[in-house]
Amino acid sequence: MLEYYVLLRSVLHAKPHLRECLTRCRHCGIFFLTHPRNAGRHDLRCPFGCREAHRKQASGQRSVAYYREPKGKGKKRDLNQRRPRQYCPPKPAPNPPRAQRPWRSRRGREWNLRLVEYVRMVASLIEGRRISRAQVLRMLARKLRQHTLCRRRQIDQTVAWLQEEPP
Ligand SMILES: [Zn+2]
Repeated sequence: MLEYYVLLRSVLHAKPHLRECLTRCRHCGIFFLTHPRNAGRHDLRCPFGCREAHRKQASGQRSVAYYREPKGKGKKRDLNQRRPRQYCPPKPAPNPPRAQRPWRSRRGREWNLRLVEYVRMVASLIEGRRISRAQVLRMLARKLRQHTLCRRRQIDQTVAWLQEEPP
């Protein structure tokens, strides 16, 4: 989290024109960069989960509202009456929209497409050119590898230290 803010601050320092894209999630309060077309808006939700959660909730409410309407109610009654008489084989759940499914890269790693897309947008803004999803994935894979190496080194050091000086 702290790392994220340090990074965000250095990005804004290096690219002051992106300041107008800085906004704050109305739900969790995290600062994030948004697309220039949304610059100046303060009613947005962050791409780190709040936006998706809100979308799911909103679509749930829509269907509840639908069944509350007289027309919807009639439809539901129809459905209920029809149900016992004819056998309906269970339908496989419809596939979630493309963006919500984890997306697998050629190397078999799973990515959250929404987040990858967000990183791609921010990276394109910072670089001032279009960056492809493949480039973002390569960069993320490299970063993750570095991160794991660092963690491993830390753990090795701790283990070595514990062996030298047992508590
Ligand atoms: Zn949020």
